[in-house]
Amino acid sequence: MFGSGMTSASARGRLVDKLAAQNLATPEVLEILREVPRHVFVDEAIAHRAYDDTVLPIGFQQTISQPTIVAMMTNAAAGVADRSRALEIGTGCGYQTAVLSRLFDEVYTVERIEPLQLRARRTLANLEITNVTFKFADGHDGWPEYSPFNVVIGTASAEEVPTSLCNQVALDGRLIMPVDNQVYVGQSLVQWERTESTFRKSNLCGVRFVPMLRGVEATP
Ligand code: SAH
Repeated sequence: MFGSGMTSASARGRLVDKLAAQNLATPEVLEILREVPRHVFVDEAIAHRAYDDTVLPIGFQQTISQPTIVAMMTNAAAGVADRSRALEIGTGCGYQTAVLSRLFDEVYTVERIEPLQLRARRTLANLEITNVTFKFADGHDGWPEYSPFNVVIGTASAEEVPTSLCNQVALDGRLIMPVDNQVYVGQSLVQWERTESTFRKSNLCGVRFVPMLRGVEATP
């Protein structure tokens, strides 16, 4: 589906083989990571590092998440029974968005830095991905018009989960995002599952994400 040179396809394959060896995700999720090119989401100057299992800069002091973490978050997202709608807070370069677009019927994604959002739009259009709706806004409020979502994914770390995001999770849905640790330095990737009566919380792993900030930064 996504055209790319042999070199990057084989490099991507080797990266996904490493992720597979760590049992981080189901075969379905690994197959998606094998198909979605990561190098087209970063600057050409660093594209040769796109298939290292590492965070890379995407400008505006932001980063594209590490493949290991994308695999884990996507795997958690894929575990819901109903894959109608996902909401992502923090589009960044749009790589996680593109991966989610292969799992969910509709993906809604919110970014507070306008030039990043515009670039992500272009990259996804070039990949002929048509089931993603973008919004330039502060994601703290989620996207109530399209809620509830079967999955809400946050790719920036907050002191605590914004209440409006919890409110927009569908029954049996999941909210997956990094949250600052209260007791020691660092962040935890946390998953909340919405049941009839409560949210069931589980910690997935320790992580290091950029902070979730207030307000927006428009193109000058
Ligand atoms: N999944 C993205 C991660 C980008 S880093 C990728 O792989 O490229 C996190 C992103 O969250 C940044 O682009 C940052 O601008 C954005 N962000 C931070 N706070 C936000 C907020 N309040 N609302 C929306 N986006 C936010």
